[in-house]
Amino acid sequence: MSTAIEARTGRAGPAGRFDPASYEAGWRERWEADGLYRADDGDPRDKHYLLTMYPYPSGDLHIGHWYAATGPDIVARTRRMQGLNVMFPMGFDSFGLPAENAAIDRNIHPAIWTADSIGRMRTQFRTMGCMFDWDREVVTSDPSYYRWTQWLFLQLFNAGLAYRAMAPVDWCPKDQVVLAREQVEGADRHCWRCGTPVVKRDLEQWFFRVTSYADELLGFDGIDWPEPIRLMQTNWIGRSEGAEIEFPVEADGVDPIRVFTTRPDTVFGATFMVLAPEHPAVAALTTAGRKADVEAYVATARRETEIERMSAERDKNGVFIGAHALNPMTQERIPIWIADYVLPGYGTGAIMSVPAHDERDYAFAERYDLPIRYVVLPRGGSAPDGEAFVAHTDDEVLVDSGEFTGMPAAEAIGAITRQLADLGLGGPAVSYKIRDWLVSRQRYWGAPIPIVYCDEHGAQPVPEEQLPILLPEDVDFAPTGVSPLQSHAGFLSASCPACGAAARRETDTMDTFVDSAWYFLRYCSPHEEERAWDPEKVREWMPVDLYTGGAEHAVLHLMYARFMTKALRALGHLSFGEPFLALRNQGQILGADHQRMSKSRGNVANPDELVARYGSDTVRLFLMFIGPWDQGGPWNPTGIDGVHRFLARVWGAALAEGGGELPTADIPGIPQPSLAGEIPGSGGPSADRMLGTAEELSRALRRATHVAISEVGDDYAGFRFNTAIAKMMELTNAIVRARESGLAGTDAYAESIDTLLLLLAPAAPHISEELWARRGHGYSIHQQPWPVADPELAQSETVELPVQVDGKLRDRLVVTRDTPPEEIERLALASEHVQRYLAGRAPRRVVQIPGRLVNVVTPGE
Ligand SMILES: [Zn+2]
Ligand SMILES: [Zn+2]
Repeated sequence: MSTAIEARTGRAGPAGRFDPASYEAGWRERWEADGLYRADDGDPRDKHYLLTMYPYPSGDLHIGHWYAATGPDIVARTRRMQGLNVMFPMGFDSFGLPAENAAIDRNIHPAIWTADSIGRMRTQFRTMGCMFDWDREVVTSDPSYYRWTQWLFLQLFNAGLAYRAMAPVDWCPKDQVVLAREQVEGADRHCWRCGTPVVKRDLEQWFFRVTSYADELLGFDGIDWPEPIRLMQTNWIGRSEGAEIEFPVEADGVDPIRVFTTRPDTVFGATFMVLAPEHPAVAALTTAGRKADVEAYVATARRETEIERMSAERDKNGVFIGAHALNPMTQERIPIWIADYVLPGYGTGAIMSVPAHDERDYAFAERYDLPIRYVVLPRGGSAPDGEAFVAHTDDEVLVDSGEFTGMPAAEAIGAITRQLADLGLGGPAVSYKIRDWLVSRQRYWGAPIPIVYCDEHGAQPVPEEQLPILLPEDVDFAPTGVSPLQSHAGFLSASCPACGAAARRETDTMDTFVDSAWYFLRYCSPHEEERAWDPEKVREWMPVDLYTGGAEHAVLHLMYARFMTKALRALGHLSFGEPFLALRNQGQILGADHQRMSKSRGNVANPDELVARYGSDTVRLFLMFIGPWDQGGPWNPTGIDGVHRFLARVWGAALAEGGGELPTADIPGIPQPSLAGEIPGSGGPSADRMLGTAEELSRALRRATHVAISEVGDDYAGFRFNTAIAKMMELTNAIVRARESGLAGTDAYAESIDTLLLLLAPAAPHISEELWARRGHGYSIHQQPWPVADPELAQSETVELPVQVDGKLRDRLVVTRDTPPEEIERLALASEHVQRYLAGRAPRRVVQIPGRLVNVVTPGE
């Protein structure tokens, strides 16, 4: 291997051409052959588990993958040089709709298509030069993985956290699949994948009881996550406090109707009730005379989407079902209606209608001539005319509310709730917007749910020793609305674990988000055959120290991974409750037209072409230079030449210690770059300041070097890769100037070059390795310790002072740190800009904040 490298890179020659194609692939092969980036278990150094979200095997790595992976790779490489035992694994989220649909489009079996895609993506990933530990690769559609996804299902099932229920579900008519709530997007409620508007269907479904962990999921103590993500999860969980109130009904054998309200103080104003058309009590309560109208209304409501039903502009209509309930506080008989604006999945699917204090209820009461009774008003105020009182003021008190009349509303909330509890008709309650996680899919390409159905024993868990339940390959996977597994006789037939009788296997497969809810655990012991993970290794590596990925996963993957971790802790399988200690989200790379990159817009930048032309390092560096990593930015391909020229300058400076001409970049198809470049900080007045004695020049170069060490390290840690690169460009400019001043060959010059290469190594791993070797240092630069800044050397000898006149910036002074205040005052007053404002007058006074600023106060009028 090493001979191949030497042959390819050719150590001979004073400088050599800057030609990344001549060395990049060779170094990657050597790093991999040497296992340079392998994270070993039991290493005495502190562990650092850095994870970036694994991709769907879409078939091609696009520029977004490069962008997402390069940032954390830089941090992983830096942490490694800083002495940590870094694990940075990669794998493929290979089950699920994208793989299956792609397979259907191309008429290839999903297993073959997935394997081909993964093979291609592995190769592409390797060209990035990331330090992924491929020995730990995880592929979720592999039986050695999904066996344990099935095991996980059984753990949840046995603990009562996985259950089956009939539920109206969102159905994509195009993909022929039930969608999770999170997979339904937009105001028109369309499918997240294909954009088709969803419809409702009733199906027996498997759910995970995420709602049991709603309160735990609201706690973010001890984890460093971006505020917007925490906020989105908090809103998604949607916790609100209030009371649950029972309204007895006038029908034998029907339970009281339960409602949740955040305003139990308005219960005296509840003059009717509204149930969701789907409410289970509707059929039992509807009187014979109302039956036809009610059934027609229910049928219509079920065809509509939730958004249509919830829309504020929409006509609020409903029908009376003929039955009455009893207001538990007034003992009044109040009519029961159904209306489609009450949804079955929110709260209890029933509301107490208080038309005087709710605009929607008010409109409904007006329309159907139902009583409106004001029960809360500002102290001494009167009821508004022709509208609900919803403003709510601090001084509002109860009116027309029996013994509670006159009580401040805030106080009445507790008092009425307590009385309801005493009456056995309710009590304090908490309501959540979050619903349980629907995990079953009527699709082929997923982990089969390990359940069998026995006529006598119902749903039975498959014994663990029978796992994995393999996905058969010989099925017709075209989408037909039912799982293709339903027509596979061999798959269907099973025996009941309870009685041994013939049983039918569950044909639904699991949501792909189940696979990704635990993959970070599998990386800790990916080859473990007897268990989902080796507990000792999970103890060693988990939790993940730093997780990176797209913010679009705020309430999907990131919530499910937290739920799974908490559930597994409760079941005794894990000792921690949060999977990811820190989270950072990358921004998005837009097309040159500032639009989202897409094939249809024709604005997609192809990383393979760019790598072939410029090499991997240039593409990595350019992507990180576009803007702040967490914000992304538009792709401007002209900028890549500037970054390439920067690397050419590094190449030249590193290999031209003896003086002479700097080598140039000579890449086919790229204009010959000028070494002057358009690089921040090049040229300009700072160049003049470099003039001085050899000793001064050398000190200035060392200072620039040590400033760069401390700043680049901080920037990498803070994901500010763009500013880190700008600082390395400045250091390179300082080095080139030093060389022009004859400093090449000195110790200071060599220190600067070697430091620059070390700082550059995480961002541009190939050129730094190549130059490190060419400069005669041992393999590998990626095994070197991170340079340490000497704060004394880094301290500037001069300081730039803003000079203000009457508080406004008028000039700047550059002085040495030991310049006495009286000299600073003299220099400030001598400034022609200051003189102009003084106009010959003496200043009233001169104020100095040492090391910070000078302010000249004029005598005024
Ligand atoms: Zn769809
Ligand atoms: Zn049985």
